[in-house]
Amino acid sequence: MENTFDVIIIGGSSAGLSAGMSLGRAMKNVLIIDSGNPCNKPTPHSHNFLTHDGWKPAEIMEVALNEVLAYPTVKFMTGWVSHVVGSNNHFEVTVDEQSQTYHAKKLLFATGIKDIMPNIDGFTKCWGKSVIHCPYCHGYEYRNQATGILMNGDVGADFSEFIRNWSKDITLFTNGPATLSAEKRQATLNRKIRIVEHPIKALKHENGYLKAIVFADGTTQKLDALYARLRFEQHSQLPALLGCELNEQGYLKVDEVKRTTVAGIYAAGDNSTPMRAVAAAVAAGGMAGAMINHEIINEAD
Ligand SMILES: Cc1cc2nc3c(=O)[nH]c(=O)nc-3n(C[C@H](O)[C@H](O)[C@H](O)COP(=O)(O)OP(=O)(O)OC[C@H]3O[C@@H](n4cnc5c(N)ncnc54)[C@H](O)[C@@H]3O)c2cc1C
Repeated sequence: MENTFDVIIIGGSSAGLSAGMSLGRAMKNVLIIDSGNPCNKPTPHSHNFLTHDGWKPAEIMEVALNEVLAYPTVKFMTGWVSHVVGSNNHFEVTVDEQSQTYHAKKLLFATGIKDIMPNIDGFTKCWGKSVIHCPYCHGYEYRNQATGILMNGDVGADFSEFIRNWSKDITLFTNGPATLSAEKRQATLNRKIRIVEHPIKALKHENGYLKAIVFADGTTQKLDALYARLRFEQHSQLPALLGCELNEQGYLKVDEVKRTTVAGIYAAGDNSTPMRAVAAAVAAGGMAGAMINHEIINEAD
């Protein structure tokens, strides 16, 4: 494979492939490098993305990759980008610690984020199946079922109230003493949302599908679905090492056209927004691809 490109896209999932399509259609030479670990891998069905509602995530990406690789200037490689050096118009990328390097004028990080699982037995097995992050992605499948919210503080109260749109059988699990304000606690109870403060030991499940929540004192409560907002880290530390700034929430700072704070480096998808959905990542990738193309054209003048 040649080793000099207009653009190298690091991360080849929703955001990265979408950018690859914009750039391929603009006849730019593009290399997409992906390590095959998108955040939605554990979920059996992806929802709320038009034309692919309910598809397996890997099937959506297989179709997307075939469409993108129909453009002859786009190349794809499986691997982990381990090092990047250089600056605008002169970036050098190393894959899997190999000696071969790849060069590009511009970089797009479409690397996503990594969820950090809490220390609760069974949690990881249920993540993406019955422990879920977003009602638009999975709430419909659990409508009117016994639903928990694993959160604390007023934000947990607000989220519980919001999820009542999908089920009236709601329990807010604070996993230790609740930190709600007196006013929020009362409002939550008035809406018939239970507040359970027992520390949680485990999730009882069958193949990732919840049966009950198990407390440290051995008691249990039947449950079908649990919403959780997890801590996260950037899937790739490379943007930060290159000097790209993060905001206080831990997302890469980007402007309205997906430029990071470092010249020539763009970011799109989950790594730079809390709006976590395939449609949002595809839109962000498409925008980044178009704007990178624009920048390259302007610089060539
Ligand atoms: C469990 C779960 C279920 C979800 N369900 C839905 C749903 O039903 N509907 C919906 O719309 N959204 C859903 N989402 C959200 C959706 O999956 C994300 O918004 C979307 O995948 C973000 O796309 P992305 O391209 O930004 O990141 P990702 O899809 O996470 O992809 C990032 C890619 O970059 C690669 N990568 C990272 N670092 C490197 C590196 N250094 N070198 C090479 N490759 C690298 C990774 O391997 C990965 O393939 C779900 C999310 C989760 C966590």
